Amino acid sequence: MEYTIEQIAALCEGRLVKGSTPVSQVQYLVTDSRRISFPNTSLFIALRTPLRDAHVYIEEVYQRGVRLFLVQHLPENNTYTDADFIVVPDTLVAFQLLAARHREQFTYPVIGITGSNGKTIVKEWLYQLLQHDYSIVRSPRSYNSQIGVPLSIWQMNSRNTLGIFEAGISQLGEMPALQKMIRPTIGLLTNIGEAHSEGFTSLEEKLQQKLLLFSGADMLFCNMDDARIEQAVMDTGVSLFTIGHAAGNTLQILSSMHVAGATRIAAVYREVERSIEIPFTDSAAVQNAIACWAVMLYMGVTDVDIATRMKVLQPVDMRLQMVQALNGSAVINDSYSFDITSFSIAIEFLQQQQQYHQKTVILSDLPAFTPDETYSVAAHILAQKQVHRIITIGSKWQSLSRLLTVLPAKVEQYATTDAFLQQTTVHHFRNEVILLKGARVFAFERIAAMLSQQVHRTVMEINLSALAHNLRQYQQRLQPGTRLMAMVKAFGYGAGSAEVANVMQFHKVDYLAVAYADEGVDLRKAGIGLPILVLNVDEAAFDAIVEYNLEPELFSFPILQAFLRFLQHQGLQQYPVHIKLDTGMHRLGFEESDMPALAALLQQQQLLMIKSVFSHLASSEDPNDDSFTHLQARRFERCCDVLKDALRYPFIRHLSNSAAIFRLPELQYDMVRLGIGLYGVDSANEHQLSLQTVGTLTTTIAQLRHVKAGETVSYNRRGKITRDSRIATLRIGYADGYSRKLGYGRGKVWIKGQLVPVVGTVCMDMMMVDVTDVPDVTENDTVEIFGPHLPVQQVAAWSETIAYEILTGIGQRIKRVYFEE
Ligand SMILES: *Cc1c(COP(=O)(O)O)cnc(C)c1O
Repeated sequence: MEYTIEQIAALCEGRLVKGSTPVSQVQYLVTDSRRISFPNTSLFIALRTPLRDAHVYIEEVYQRGVRLFLVQHLPENNTYTDADFIVVPDTLVAFQLLAARHREQFTYPVIGITGSNGKTIVKEWLYQLLQHDYSIVRSPRSYNSQIGVPLSIWQMNSRNTLGIFEAGISQLGEMPALQKMIRPTIGLLTNIGEAHSEGFTSLEEKLQQKLLLFSGADMLFCNMDDARIEQAVMDTGVSLFTIGHAAGNTLQILSSMHVAGATRIAAVYREVERSIEIPFTDSAAVQNAIACWAVMLYMGVTDVDIATRMKVLQPVDMRLQMVQALNGSAVINDSYSFDITSFSIAIEFLQQQQQYHQKTVILSDLPAFTPDETYSVAAHILAQKQVHRIITIGSKWQSLSRLLTVLPAKVEQYATTDAFLQQTTVHHFRNEVILLKGARVFAFERIAAMLSQQVHRTVMEINLSALAHNLRQYQQRLQPGTRLMAMVKAFGYGAGSAEVANVMQFHKVDYLAVAYADEGVDLRKAGIGLPILVLNVDEAAFDAIVEYNLEPELFSFPILQAFLRFLQHQGLQQYPVHIKLDTGMHRLGFEESDMPALAALLQQQQLLMIKSVFSHLASSEDPNDDSFTHLQARRFERCCDVLKDALRYPFIRHLSNSAAIFRLPELQYDMVRLGIGLYGVDSANEHQLSLQTVGTLTTTIAQLRHVKAGETVSYNRRGKITRDSRIATLRIGYADGYSRKLGYGRGKVWIKGQLVPVVGTVCMDMMMVDVTDVPDVTENDTVEIFGPHLPVQQVAAWSETIAYEILTGIGQRIKRVYFEE
């Protein structure tokens, strides 16, 4: 659907300030300056959040070709004479109003889903189950927020026959806005639980808020097995389709039974007993499938169709994952669904992987009945981004090959996934990042399996969304104007320096820091353009530093003199450097007594440009040492003052590491250096921070055996077995960074909801754990070494060290898998 800019202004009740632009049609709404695919028909909405005022991106967005803007105020001395601005008091309110007015034009049914868990799964399952009967528009991924919902609603058009949208709230008062946009005719409440409770005073209050989504709906689906829900929904005044075990429910559940990896569920609806079978056994899946079943019955799908479709229900994994593959490549597997929104998100993710110069996209035909123009849109998106090779699978792309052959990329086409697998091998791919984007029926998981290496099944999963979340937690606590340097030394604290640096670059941190020049060189080769500080330099590294535009820390007179000689020799001037002061850590740095000589030296020369002056705190996480920390700060300030008088140009002062940022906000100066906190470890134990786990280390069980009481396990017979036991051998050992100190029951691992102890000595590549008390353990089961269920700090405590050492000690042979939620 397209609107003129005049229509948009009227719809969102804004004041239109016309420029001389010839563009005037709006098809896309953009809130993120980094995600612009169609500048000619996009309206940029400058949202203002506590963290970021998007009005500052107007210039960047304008440079990318956008000429239509929704703003709260015109840019100062507005020089954008060929752009149109709609001015409103509040851009978020206007954005939501626009979505609500857009929604009003459609009369087809809309399913609105909310609840504490399972919203996305139920939405995606309903899509799987009903796509044969309807042309469905739905929320992409988990777009369920105040910004995600209007973006989702904006996708509605007159060709659709059903909408499915999810709504998520985290605070009081958020639901009415979402209700006005979604206006569900059919409501579905998945469940109510503790998730996202911080913004509410009680569970009852949260439930009441969620129910506001359904005002005006014709029918509400809800699970009456939860007494709290039963009570609350009675008062909504909406007709109820109830689900539950008790007689009298619209869909009365009789039984659910596990049968070989599946669950058979029997129920009564309209006095007829019916049953379905789903290929899942966990209770959440059963609950979600039953909700979908109820909706299908209500919508008149036949029992036969329901049963057939339920049997082949596919798991939902909305995460965008990047996995290391053979021949130095990596695979982003996003073959769960294929629509334009998820396609542009995936392409964006591909684009960010600058550590690979070669980018390949393997894509299937879009789902059946997709109009040809959608293929043009997909081709257009590919044209906008640097993709080197496009491999298509499916006959539709073959017939539309002219859309692709005009692009600079190399194009290969195959009729079917089978044909592709027969004609190619992994040798076809080398040192490249490959995006797999395919509709379900093309079974791209077979391509993923061909490309990925599945040798050592111990993996470290890195949650890039959690990394971004943690960054925000700290950014929110910075005084206005304070800059941020992200520490990516030691392979990004084990998480992968290029991958972490990419996220940091995307989120516009100001600086990166590495320990050694080599690490900085790797980042430059991976396409990182941010300024990079190198903490520990020696003369041998000067060449690389200058060649790769890295900025050294100068910490002593000898290193400073050596660098001056080097610059002189090279004929370089004004080279950016950082002065390190020792204020009490006694590791590297100039001392306070060096200041007069240092100031005199710096004053005389033109070769160096002092970008920053900094020092490091010895004990910022420990409140008992706060007086020492402040002593360090006073020394630091005195030294900076001397240098400031000498230099007569501004430089950045920085002192705080993660623990200090939050605990000692008065020490933030001009910049802070964020390390461990980024990776989800709260070194100061300030629980208000709500950091998310970034790294999860898992392995699998190689073998299971019974061991009789009296026997021993592992080297030197130190693992004495005192009862008949079940022992599991895991594919991880001290060569992977799992310390021998964790042997003999000191360390534990998490398996199927329980912590179980390490038995005997940890070996080089393997170790044994006691799983006697865990039912249903089988070989190849996954075991968490640390992660969301077992914090890395706990493992560190068991091995008498700190999380830093555990994270940075995880062996390089362990495959890193990156994903975005
Ligand atoms: C590693 C390091 C940091 C980061 O410390 P965290 O405790 O991980 O936040 C900051 N500054 C310097 C000089 C460092 O070496």
